[in-house]
Amino acid sequence: MTTVERNRLAIDGGAPVRDHPIVTTVPPTAADVAAAAAVLRSGRLGGPEHPETHRFEAELAAFGEVPHAVAVNSGTAAIHAILAGLGVGPGDEVIVPAHTFIASATPVLMVGAKPVVVDVDDSTYCIDPAAAAAEVTRRTKAIVAVHINGHPAPVDRLPSGIPVVSDACQAHGAALGGVPVAALGAAAAFSFWQDKLMTTGGEGGALLTADPAIAEAANLLRSHGLRQIPGSRDFHHPVLGYNYRLTGPQSAMGRSQLSRLPEMLAVRRRNARKLIEALDGIAGITPPVVRPGARHVFWKFVIAVDPEQFTVDVRGFMRALAAEGVPAAPRYPVALHKQPVLSSGRLAACPVAESLSSRLLTVALPATEQDDDVADVAEAVRKVATALRR
Ligand SMILES: *Cc1c(COP(=O)(O)O)cnc(C)c1O
Repeated sequence: MTTVERNRLAIDGGAPVRDHPIVTTVPPTAADVAAAAAVLRSGRLGGPEHPETHRFEAELAAFGEVPHAVAVNSGTAAIHAILAGLGVGPGDEVIVPAHTFIASATPVLMVGAKPVVVDVDDSTYCIDPAAAAAEVTRRTKAIVAVHINGHPAPVDRLPSGIPVVSDACQAHGAALGGVPVAALGAAAAFSFWQDKLMTTGGEGGALLTADPAIAEAANLLRSHGLRQIPGSRDFHHPVLGYNYRLTGPQSAMGRSQLSRLPEMLAVRRRNARKLIEALDGIAGITPPVVRPGARHVFWKFVIAVDPEQFTVDVRGFMRALAAEGVPAAPRYPVALHKQPVLSSGRLAACPVAESLSSRLLTVALPATEQDDDVADVAEAVRKVATALRR
């Protein structure tokens, strides 16, 4: 191939950089499936006191370095339970960042409180502490700190005296200054949805906390608000509850996945480091930035594409990359202050989140260790950036 042919983009009929898929999520292993199957065969499938769920909770608590873990059936349920456990309700305000998934904020509506949407930092894409401080009122009852993409939020710089909900749904194993995200703030929420850093078989979640009152409240809320009175077989329901229970087979798969999580994270982190290095110096492309002291786990590998430097917008860049065999997707193209469901909230000006919504691209991060995978992603980005430069 001549240089001209090699440089011709696949969208223009050239040969793609890569002709076989990149593995970005490790599918459940035989051990994961066997663990779930064993519980299915046992005949004891669910219920609030399932022994597999208790074991999973003990292992989660140890992993997060906190005394309490309550397994639930989604990350959204975990955030809802934390807010309820903190006593947040009607008339209260909760501060949330504008650049995140909708479920960081919808639980605020679920407890009847008002979401207050604030801007984020331009380099880590996490909540901007100054923007949060500017929106604190006497009604502020909590701040949701989202560890976006796996990068720990600046919980250490948030206004003091306000409980922090650590939204760790994208950040299993991340840490700030050596403190795991599970131990940052009043309590932390994790998601085990199919595409997150680990899964319980499609859906699942947990909240981790050092606060026994939050754990107790979550425990009640997850199972119909049912409290067993010692010596009585009657059902007592002192509070409004839900059914947020995780099942036995889900818990067993979660235990199996959790046991491999450190290894899976090590591969992601190594691949991310290599990819950051390989993308260094491509004009108009900003690889992920990691704050000193932060342990980033790279659930998503997000690059910023400077629209001024290319002949296409971020979607055009994405299509060219996909044609080269490297899947990509716009990262939160509609920020939270633009979401109709949150229009009853207080929506601060969010110029950074606004600008990110047309600049950020999630690029496939290989989840396995084959050196050419990372090299192919880097080469595809370089090829597209070079060909589409203004
Ligand atoms: C995935 C996610 C959630 C919700 O988790 P589910 O398990 O899908 O309910 C909440 N917040 C963030 C930041 C997420 O990425």
